[in-house]
Amino acid sequence: MTDPAVFTGRAAVRAGILVTGTEVLTGIISDRNGPWLSERLRDLGVDAAVIQIVGDRPEDLRTALEQMAATGVALIVTSGGLGPTADDLTAEIVGAFCGREMALDAALEQRIGAIIERAAQRWPDADREALRAANRKQAVIPSGATVLEPRGTAPGLVVPPAEGRSGPTVVVLPGPPSELQPMWRDAVATEAFQGAVVGATEYRREIVRLFGLPEAEIASTLRAAAAAGLDLSPLEITTCLRRGEIEVSTRFEPRSQPEYDALLQFIERRHGRRLFSRDGRTIDEQVAGRLLAVGETIALAESCTGGLLAARLTDRAGSSAYVMGGAVVYSNAAKADLVGVDPALIETHGAVSVEVARALADGARRRFGTTVGVGITGVAGPGGGTAEKPVGLVCFSVTWAGAGVETAERVLTRTRQLPGDRAAVRERSTTVAMHLIDRVLRGESD
Ligand code: ATP
Ligand code: MG
Repeated sequence: MTDPAVFTGRAAVRAGILVTGTEVLTGIISDRNGPWLSERLRDLGVDAAVIQIVGDRPEDLRTALEQMAATGVALIVTSGGLGPTADDLTAEIVGAFCGREMALDAALEQRIGAIIERAAQRWPDADREALRAANRKQAVIPSGATVLEPRGTAPGLVVPPAEGRSGPTVVVLPGPPSELQPMWRDAVATEAFQGAVVGATEYRREIVRLFGLPEAEIASTLRAAAAAGLDLSPLEITTCLRRGEIEVSTRFEPRSQPEYDALLQFIERRHGRRLFSRDGRTIDEQVAGRLLAVGETIALAESCTGGLLAARLTDRAGSSAYVMGGAVVYSNAAKADLVGVDPALIETHGAVSVEVARALADGARRRFGTTVGVGITGVAGPGGGTAEKPVGLVCFSVTWAGAGVETAERVLTRTRQLPGDRAAVRERSTTVAMHLIDRVLRGESD
């Protein structure tokens, strides 16, 4: 990886991220805002110098702001502590930190009041007086701050240092990620924000995904690309293994698009079909798109994944258009009773076998009357492995037939030896299955 500040020959604009909330500090919930903000900042050419988590103690918040400012950051982004309760103190502390008086914004109070009024209709017993006080508290903001319209009830703020003071501009955002994320875009658009990050270079970020090769292979592809004379120096390339797939994320300045295009071509030539996404689209999106586009329907019979594939396929809104159903067929009896696997087949080949996987796929397809059927059976571990069928051995089958056709017209059946513990084997199995489904939908067959 190349440090962008080095290859552009320019001092990068730096920022600090301050995540507040005792529940985050204690680990009751895990921080989703710090990493998300860090990535967004990077895309703007701003380097997150630090992500700090503090509890709801005002002293800790104040100290963290001062320490970050002392390192010379141009921007501080805070998350959390904007709510209506007394322990929500971020706005007030940031106001003082930036040298700005707190003042009631009457127009803002009215807008928040209207939101609270709508919400209060669901809680007819709520204490009106307390609601009004809460409303007023949230409308008291540092004078001169730019208001970001609330997505919940809390407004966000962009607060530059007061006239005649130096120091970072502070972006104040609410804690819930569903509110923070849309408000971030509003924050970036403000004049105060843009003023704080002048000099930062805008970057492009492109993501490609590969499946069916070890992560080390991508490292050797990058070495081969450099050896073949490609100039990778203006590209900041990060690779990571995610759910059994390799994600290659590249950040570059717009003028380095040709270098990126050359790299993409190189990866395409070297890895062919294993490069399944050139535009960052996940396999889940691609499978959903294909199922929808041609009006296919899908059903599952899962053993070792216990319904995880069904959960993954129904994760998307609108999946009821193509997911008809699934059966968790853990016992041999369930395999026979629910999707009609011949007990003799299990007797002969064992429950974990390609024959049974195939029977599960066909059985699911017939039972639910779908065009696509999926069967998964394997040894998730940690117990239950044998020399012949070790832990991590999983059999998959995906079959397809036109509507109303009994016998499969397309079949992909595979056995994989998957690495990792029980959770990893089960999770990885859903990824393998997604890719097999995708290939069958594209017309492939054994
Ligand atoms: P609210 O008006 O909801 O109180 P707030 O700005 O005061 O908003 P917090 O009280 O800090 O935010 O957090 C509210 C909820 O938002 C938390 O209980 C948690 O569910 C979620 N949340 C807060 N911070 C984070 C974070 N860093 N990562 C993920 N979720 C978070
Ligand atoms: Mg709160």
